[in-house]
Amino acid sequence: MNRIFNFSAGPSMLPVPVLERAASEMLNYNGSGMSVMEMSHRSAVYQQIIDQTEADLRKLMNIPDNYKVLFLQGGASTQFSAVPLNLMTKNGKADYIVSGQFSGKAAKEAERYGEVRILASSKDKNFTYVPYVTEFNKDSDYVHICYNNTIFGTVYPYVPQTGDIPLVADMSSGILSKPVNVADYGLIYAGAQKNMAPAGMTLVIVREDLIGDAMDCCPVMLQYKIQAENGSMYNTPPCYSIYVAGLVYKWLLELGGLEEMQKINEAKAGMLYDFLDNSKLFKATAEKECRSLMNVCFVTGDADLDKKFCAEATAAGLSNLKGHRSVGGMRASIYNAMPVAGVEALIAFMEKFEKENG
Ligand code: PMP
Repeated sequence: MNRIFNFSAGPSMLPVPVLERAASEMLNYNGSGMSVMEMSHRSAVYQQIIDQTEADLRKLMNIPDNYKVLFLQGGASTQFSAVPLNLMTKNGKADYIVSGQFSGKAAKEAERYGEVRILASSKDKNFTYVPYVTEFNKDSDYVHICYNNTIFGTVYPYVPQTGDIPLVADMSSGILSKPVNVADYGLIYAGAQKNMAPAGMTLVIVREDLIGDAMDCCPVMLQYKIQAENGSMYNTPPCYSIYVAGLVYKWLLELGGLEEMQKINEAKAGMLYDFLDNSKLFKATAEKECRSLMNVCFVTGDADLDKKFCAEATAAGLSNLKGHRSVGGMRASIYNAMPVAGVEALIAFMEKFEKENG
């Protein structure tokens, strides 16, 4: 096998057993004589796939019965609009915490539909931390956070205690990395292309009482009620991406679930942060208490050396380590599918680079 270790922030690595299973079923899924790519979404065989996918996710995340699971299109960015269109309808107001680029974009989009109050922002320190917020506006229809900040490598070390106000979380880059208590949230959404499946599917987990009060102007495709009533099949869903997500959920269940995944992720990220904390050349950029398990950002402090590092790493089979264009430096995205061996190889390479360039 000549696979590289791909540290891309997304789309990103998928577990090899999942890719192998998808490959083995590519031409003939379970005796159907067709690929999942070729199936009618209205067929019994596909209905069985989507039902099992939902059942496995419910088991994996321990999703309470009063939550709907939706497999939608449009990416997480479409949820930046769908959330206010569906939820900003009682008082027309919502609170946003800005902890990075995506939460900023989500807030800006929500401003089109109502009054957005930015409770706090970590822009003052280039988003190297997550604001700690304890006070919320009582008349808010919801509070929005971005749980894991893909670009800046930070994660919420706490769950904002919003009381009766629904907490909405963009979990695109943190979903399934460790257990979360779904009941802490009114709504969770996540693009699939980091920790779940190929791009194309967006997961929405929403409490039932938050469904059904969308603005009149809300496009039918964005109405949670319509999507829930139609089992995510108001139109053609992202069929193949849903199927691969189902294989990933099975892989996680077989691994022992999200508690096991958390242990592995903490071990992987722990090794890398330990190395960074002891290095004389490299430095982690996120503040310690909110370091992401999924996206590890670091710099040498010298842009030319960063560039050299990324080029030599790529040549050594460690790809996509360049930081986001808005921050520079390096970012190692080590989602669930990144094997321990990938992180070990990265650390060994960094040690060698430090010797040669330190
Ligand atoms: N939110 C977060 C936290 C992300 O990391 C991303 C993608 N990198 C997005 C939203 C946007 O996702 P999409 O491309 O699926 O719209």
